[in-house]
Amino acid sequence: MNITDEFDTITAISTPLGTGGVGVIRISGEKSFDIANNITTCNNLPAGKICHGWIIDDGKKIDEVIILPFKSPNSYTGEDVVEIQCHGGLHVVKNILDIVIKNGARMAQRGEFTKRAFLNKRIDLSQAEAVDDLIHSKTSEFAIQSAKNLSGVLAQKIGEIKKDIFEVTSKIVAGIDFPEDVAEPDYSYLTENFEKSINEIDKILANAKTSDILRQGIKIAIAGRPNVGKSSLFNALLNLNRAIVTEIAGTTRDIISETIDLGLPVTLIDTAGIRQDGNIDKVEEIGIEFSKQSVKDSDLILFMYDASVGMTSDDKIIYQIINDKKHIVIANKIDLADKSSAEFDTALKISAQTKYGLEELKEKIKNTVLDFSTDDLEFVTNQRQQNCLIRCKESLKRALDGAKNHQLQDMIYIDLKSALLSLDEITGEVITDEILNNIFDHFCIGK
Ligand code: GDP
Repeated sequence: MNITDEFDTITAISTPLGTGGVGVIRISGEKSFDIANNITTCNNLPAGKICHGWIIDDGKKIDEVIILPFKSPNSYTGEDVVEIQCHGGLHVVKNILDIVIKNGARMAQRGEFTKRAFLNKRIDLSQAEAVDDLIHSKTSEFAIQSAKNLSGVLAQKIGEIKKDIFEVTSKIVAGIDFPEDVAEPDYSYLTENFEKSINEIDKILANAKTSDILRQGIKIAIAGRPNVGKSSLFNALLNLNRAIVTEIAGTTRDIISETIDLGLPVTLIDTAGIRQDGNIDKVEEIGIEFSKQSVKDSDLILFMYDASVGMTSDDKIIYQIINDKKHIVIANKIDLADKSSAEFDTALKISAQTKYGLEELKEKIKNTVLDFSTDDLEFVTNQRQQNCLIRCKESLKRALDGAKNHQLQDMIYIDLKSALLSLDEITGEVITDEILNNIFDHFCIGK
C-alpha cells in the first residue's frame, strides 16, 4: 500500500471478532452509499441521519441493523463512510462483510481507515498514532494520555516550536534575498531564539522515559526467602488468588507472572523463594540462579523480608544479590511485628494479609521508576517522535554554534531548514511511504 494508491472503496469489521451486543462493519470510499443502498432496506440513505432496516441478500433477510451514513468530508476518513451496526455474533458480522465485498468494496488493510483520515488531512500523523495508542493502551492512565494527543496537544506544541523557528528563518531569508533593503538579524537575537527552541524541545524530551514506561510498562520481581509473604503480596496487588499461598516453605517453585495496572503497566513476577538447605553455599547457588532468571530481567525488585522475624542472615545474602538493581525493601507481616526491629526505619512496612501499606507501595513503585510525575505530564511521545525531536535539536545546536561563531547566515539557514523538516515529520507534513506504512502496519484491521 502506498500514498499513490487509488482511493477505492474499502470495508472491514471494526469491532473485535466474537460474540457481543453489537458488531460494526465500516465502509469507506466513493461507492459506500451505493453499496449500502443496494444491500439494505433503507434505499437512498440520507447523510447524517441514522437509519433502521434490514440487510438483504438475494431476497434473504440477513440481520436487522442500524446504519450510520456520513458524507465526505464529515466522516472519520474524510470520504463517504457508512457504518452498519448489526448483532454482534461472529457469523452475522462476517456474512454482512461478505455481502459488502460482493457488492463492490475490497477488504481494508491494517489501519487503512486511519491512514485515509491522515492522507485526507482529517488528522495529522501524531493524532493517527494516538488512535493506535488509545486502542492498545494497557492502562487507563495511558489511555488518558493518548486521548490528549488525539485531541492534538502534541501537534499544537510542535506547531508552536515550528512557528518560532520559522519566524527566525524568515528574517534570515529576507536578509539573504534582499541585502540592500533588509538587515540581517543580529547574532544575539539568533542565539537567544535557538536557545529558547532547544529548551522547549528538552522539556518535551524530559518526559521521554516516562512516556516509554507508560506505554511499554515495567517488570517487577518480588524476591525474598520462602514464606516471607511474596505470593501473598502478588495476590494482593493482583486482587486475586493467582499464586498459591501456604505456610509450607517453598510452595512457589515456578515463576508466575501477571500484568497489572498500577497507573503504569506492570508485569509482576512472583519468584520461587530462595531457600536455605542447611548451608550458605546452597543459598548462594540458588540465589545466583534466581538472579539469572528474573532479577536480571526486571526493572525493579521488591525485596521482602518477614518483619515478625527481622532481617535474618539468609535475607542479608539475598539482599546482597539484588542490591545493585533498582529495588524497594519491604518489611512484610507488619501486623505480627515487634516494632523495635532495627531494619524498620528504612523498609516500607506492609501487611500483604491485611493490605496495610499497599497503596503506599504502589505510589513508591511509580515514584521509583518514573522520572516525571504523571500528574505533570502534558502529553506522551513515542520513539519515532522522540527521534525526530532529537534530530531537530541537533540541527538547532549546529545553528546555535553557527550563530555564536558569527557564521554566514546562509549556512545557519541550512540547519534551520533541517530542524523544521524534523518537526514536520512528527506531524506528517513530510513523510516517506516507508515510515507511513511502518506506522499503519501496526494498526488492526478495521481501524
Ligand atoms: P512466600 O513463600 O514468600 O510466597 O509466602 P506466602 O505468601 O506463601 O506466605 C507464607 C505465609 O505467611 C502464609 O501462611 C501467609 O498467609 C502468611 N502471610 C503472608 N503475608 C502475611 C502478612 O502480612 N501477615 C500475616 N500475619 N501473615 C502473612
